[in-house]
Parts: sequence; C-alpha cells; structure tokens
Amino acid sequence: MKKQHRYTQANNLIAAKKKLEVLTYQDGLTELYNRRYFDEKLTKEIKRHYRQKQPLSLIIGDIDHFKLFNDFYGHQQDDICLKQVAQCISANVARVTGANYRYGGEEFAMILPNTSEEESTIVAERLCLAIESMNIAHEKSETSKFVTLTVGVVTTSAGRETSIDSIVLSADKALYLGKSRGRNRVVLAD
Ligand code: GH3
Ligand code: MG
Ligand code: MG
Repeated sequence: MKKQHRYTQANNLIAAKKKLEVLTYQDGLTELYNRRYFDEKLTKEIKRHYRQKQPLSLIIGDIDHFKLFNDFYGHQQDDICLKQVAQCISANVARVTGANYRYGGEEFAMILPNTSEEESTIVAERLCLAIESMNIAHEKSETSKFVTLTVGVVTTSAGRETSIDSIVLSADKALYLGKSRGRNRVVLAD
C-alpha cells in the first residue's frame, strides 16, 4: 500500500470516529449534548470538584406548560421552541465545552464547574429572563404570554463529597419547588 493511501485511510477513520462521537453525544434536534454525555461528564466533574477543592454547580431548567404549548401549537412549533430555548441557553450560560445538555424532552441541564452558588444563581436568573424575553408566544400558559422556564440550582461547596444522584435529586427538588411557587423563577436547593 502506498504511503499516501494509508494516510488517507487513517484520516477517514478519524473522521468516522468523530462522526460517531457526535451521534453518540449530541442531541439531534437541539445540537446540545445529550443525557448520556451529561452522566459521563457530571461523574468526571464530581471527581474533579473533590480533588481540586472547588465548588460545583448544576442548573436544571424545565419549560413551563410545554404540554399545553404542544397541544395548541403542534409538533413543528414544538421543535422550533426547543431549538430556540437551546440556543438561548448556549448564548447565556458560560460557553465551557460540554456545559449544556438536553436532559430530557423539555428539560435542560447546565454543569458549571468551579462556580459558586452566588455566581450560578446570577447565571440562572439571567437565563430565566432571557427565555421570557425571546417573546415566543404561549397563548395557553397560565404563567406568562410567552414561553418561560423554571430553574433549579444546586451548588456543592468545595471539598464536600457528593454523587451524581444526590446532586441531580437536589436540583430536581428545587425545580419542582419553583413549579409549585408559580414557575418562571429560580429556586436554590438547600
Ligand atoms: P410544567 O410547567 O409543570 O413543566 O408543565 P409541562 O406541561 O411542561 O410538563 P409535563 O411534564 O406535564 O409535560 C411535558 C410535555 O412536554 C409532554 C409532551 O407533551 C411535551 N414534550 C416533552 N418533550 C417533548 C419532545 O421532545 N417533543 C415534543 N413534541 N413534545 C415534548
Ligand atoms: Mg418536564
Ligand atoms: Mg415542563
């Protein structure tokens, strides 16, 4: 085999591997990272947080009354809305590689390494405002005229041990507290 040919083959292999990685780790609709990558990354970040004695924050956001949006506007608008929310997240939350994820259907997660509770709350508040300010009409929402997001924030302080389950559960609890308190708001986990 000629040297040049071997070189091309190797390059093709690298390209194919990259493509597979994208398919494995990226959400096809929003182009954010997917749940699988979230689990891997959060596990790594928890280890790093402990080793480097830095705080670690997690933000989980869930679109308000998305079922009503879906029922009224239909599937196509639904997809557009999810993409716009994802873009807004990318534009407003620190653009660290691997930071933003589509966690579930209309749920999004953001991992913020080395970020304090105060800093992550500012980010979460800014995101909430930015989402509503996109003015995506939501006629059926009981919360606003526009699409809104409820957000839960959890920070594990430096040097404290935690686990993926505990950190996600805390953020989820805060999120649901936010839903019960009227949605379109940020709630900190205790
Ligand atoms: P809440 O404010 O309490 O979050 O209300 P909600 O309606 O957003 O939440 P609920 O969990 O009751 O329903 C979520 C709905 O969102 C279910 C489904 O109709 C819609 N949905 C979630 N993910 C997707 C998706 O990927 N595509 C489409 N088309 N619809 C989705
Ligand atoms: Mg949900
Ligand atoms: Mg929802």
